Amino acid sequence: MEGHRIRESFLSFFEERDHKRVQSSSLIPPPESGLLLTNAGMNQFIPYFLGQASAPYPRAVTSQKVMRTNDIENVGHDARHETFFEMLGNFSFADYFKAEAITWAHELITEGYGIDHDLLWVTVYDQDEEAASAWVDLAGIAPDRIVRRGKLDEEGELANYWHTHAAGPAGPCSEIFVDRGPRYGPDGGPDVDEERFMEIWNLVFMQEQVDGELEVVAPLPGKNVDTGSSLERVAMILQGVDNVFETDLFSPTLEEAERRSGKRHGEDPNDDVSLKIVAEHGRATTFLIADGVQPSNEGRGYILRRMLRRAVSHGRRLGIEGSVLDPIITTVIDGFGDAYPELRENEAFVRQVADSEEDRFSATLGKGLVLFEDAKGRAEGSRISGDDAFALSDTFGIPREQIQEWATEAGLTVDTDRFAELLQEQRDRARSARKKVEVGLEAGAVPPSEFVGYHETQAETPIALILDDGSEQFEAAEEGQAVRVFLDRTPFYAEGGGQVGDQGLIRTDTGMVRVTDTVPAGGHATMHVGTVESGEIRPGQVAHAAIDAGRREATARAHTSTHVVHWTLKQVLGEHARQAGSLVAPGRLRFDFRHPNAVPLETLEGAELEANRRLAMDDEVRATEMSMDEAKGLGAVALFGEKYGDTVRVVEIGDYSKELCGGTHVHHTGHVAVVRILHEGSIGSGMRRIEALVGPDALLEINAERALLRGLVEAVGSNDPATAAEHARRIVEENKRLKGELGRLRAGDRDAVITALVEGAVPVDGVALVVSEVPGEDPGGLRDLAQKVRDQLSDRAAAIVVGNGEGGKAMLVAAVTGPAVERGVTAPAILATAATVIGGGAGGKDILANAGGKHPERVSDALGGIPARLEELLGAR
Ligand code: ATP
Ligand code: MG
Repeated sequence: MEGHRIRESFLSFFEERDHKRVQSSSLIPPPESGLLLTNAGMNQFIPYFLGQASAPYPRAVTSQKVMRTNDIENVGHDARHETFFEMLGNFSFADYFKAEAITWAHELITEGYGIDHDLLWVTVYDQDEEAASAWVDLAGIAPDRIVRRGKLDEEGELANYWHTHAAGPAGPCSEIFVDRGPRYGPDGGPDVDEERFMEIWNLVFMQEQVDGELEVVAPLPGKNVDTGSSLERVAMILQGVDNVFETDLFSPTLEEAERRSGKRHGEDPNDDVSLKIVAEHGRATTFLIADGVQPSNEGRGYILRRMLRRAVSHGRRLGIEGSVLDPIITTVIDGFGDAYPELRENEAFVRQVADSEEDRFSATLGKGLVLFEDAKGRAEGSRISGDDAFALSDTFGIPREQIQEWATEAGLTVDTDRFAELLQEQRDRARSARKKVEVGLEAGAVPPSEFVGYHETQAETPIALILDDGSEQFEAAEEGQAVRVFLDRTPFYAEGGGQVGDQGLIRTDTGMVRVTDTVPAGGHATMHVGTVESGEIRPGQVAHAAIDAGRREATARAHTSTHVVHWTLKQVLGEHARQAGSLVAPGRLRFDFRHPNAVPLETLEGAELEANRRLAMDDEVRATEMSMDEAKGLGAVALFGEKYGDTVRVVEIGDYSKELCGGTHVHHTGHVAVVRILHEGSIGSGMRRIEALVGPDALLEINAERALLRGLVEAVGSNDPATAAEHARRIVEENKRLKGELGRLRAGDRDAVITALVEGAVPVDGVALVVSEVPGEDPGGLRDLAQKVRDQLSDRAAAIVVGNGEGGKAMLVAAVTGPAVERGVTAPAILATAATVIGGGAGGKDILANAGGKHPERVSDALGGIPARLEELLGAR
């Protein structure tokens, strides 16, 4: 079963059992979770479990983006751990409990997925007899397949009790394992081998509230269910592959890493690890940046930086030249853009951030090598100190494997014990820091901003953050510097739904930024891209942000027209002519739609007329926020790239057009004035594209067309456009007649030339030779001439060479009769020397050849050498 189908089966299985399908929340978790990154499906529901908010639905199902950075060391080394994965989960908010959770999980696994019941093992919390008997009674699991475990294992890791690792809801859990067979390890169940007996799903029975140390502080108000199952692990079982990287969810990314590096997975164990790390970390960083995480030296930004750098350094060790991440980003967006539209929306931002961090790191790698040389100098015996290695890794972001590799190449070792000690100290520091994650602007994330641009063109707002064109924060940005500005509130529309981003100015008391583009930056963040034009600006200052209102108005006209054109095309061509993509820019639009063949001009003009008629009705354009279900009820068309969050914005025009749309529009269609279709054409099988201009831009186009017509009318010498066409037709006919006449006259002239040439033949050792420069002939004319002269001399040995320097080029043609060829005189041979003189080469058949060259001024010299060449050819016999 394909990965995408497994995801869908899980979601619809629980949807059929009255669960509300909820969008994945961001990888940046809500602050109250106390987490740096989302680590489970339940993170977005914490307030419901704690009873701080009442759940809007009693049951939910999600496919949640999660990050497990504590598993980073396993990536590439075992079959089943990733840092980023999709966690499928069903949730009950004080609704159903253990019996249903267990029954449904078993049903989906055995009947939905078709996994053999006899391959299943489960674990339960050792105090939870209720769960154990549910497994036996409701799912038919044999008692000897049920393993009882405590809260923690011997290493102090969570066993059969689950919490987020921060204070919050918790409870006993029950995990489901699948036996992958003896190929993968010894028999004996999950206690013996967790690679062979692999966990695919964990059912958590949330009933208590714990503090950060896992001490129970209170019971929860209700009994809840929270489950998590990784899509990739299920795919691995159902697709019968050895590890998560070989599932169809991963293989395109892994293959891209193979292609870029020229290495193949399965040939060298070290390369295998690197290939998997490039693919896995590349995918994880793509998702992280799309959710608004920025590389930095603290918090989640630090996690991103480490992962991104690790991917790049493994890419370099595989021999990838050029960008490591960019092609990976492409495959990730291709593979997951449909399920997670935020990837496509933030594509430009993702590439920019990844690219600049990769550049920065490439510079660091060079510097790292220099620092490593210093460390080598300080090495005691043949060992690099743990402190030096840790500084390289922690401060300069050089991945540990890279340092190890440099050491091995230099015949040295690294003090890994000391390194591990320092790493542990750092982890402890991070753990205590985790307990006090503060609300507000957190390290490594760009701040969200409120969009006020539907109603305002200007806003007074604090500047939240200023970044350079990489991801370094500015304390103050000065004149001439490229900046990316984040505001608390913004009237700037960020590129999306086909509509281009706004331009404008951001001013403070001390300086001004010219904004040239506005793009989404993950979550609800908006990035204003521009340059400080004067003075300086600083974060925290209050700014006056104003968009270029004229440009926005022209864009709004194009956006409303796009909806009207969309509606009209469906009227004229049929419902299938749905929008497949669009570009909405100031005064112009591009619109792609599905249609099997070219739209005839009359149909297109009919559609244009109908669209203009609709616009002229001056209907009101209304935007309303509503739930997805209400929008569906209204029949609002869902378009490519829309986010199916809970609330959507519906734009209605009159009583005919309804679309999900976040863009900016005019208030009445009359404001558009006019739309003019420029052309229609194919952009691939079954896809067509229309380009059109609107409002004043359409009128300017009409003026340009008029000027064109005026030019034509003038050129044909008519003063009335109405009769101009007739006039032009007459001129064309006249021209044709004159050409014919001229041809006949020329033919007469030509006969005279041919006669003169034939008469001018001189004998050279028994061969009649005609050599002449003939101006005014094109290459075709010269050939024709040479052949006609030859025809007249065909009864004897004869050679004809004509040429000229017309049009800046030298051209020579030789024609030779049969008897001359018999005497060893061929056309290419006779031209050979002359061809070099004009700076070219000769080619052709024995009886007809030509030579071209770039020296027209040498044509007469070249022809002058022909008699000598003929003698030479005859003498050689
Ligand atoms: P494991 O012991 O295999 O690391 P876990 O006990 O940490 O798993 P849970 O916290 O219970 O896992 O997460 C729920 C589910 O998520 C697991 O049943 C498993 O399917 C999946 N899962 C957990 N960690 C990872 C990971 N790093 N990569 C892929 N899937 C994972
Ligand atoms: Mg784990």
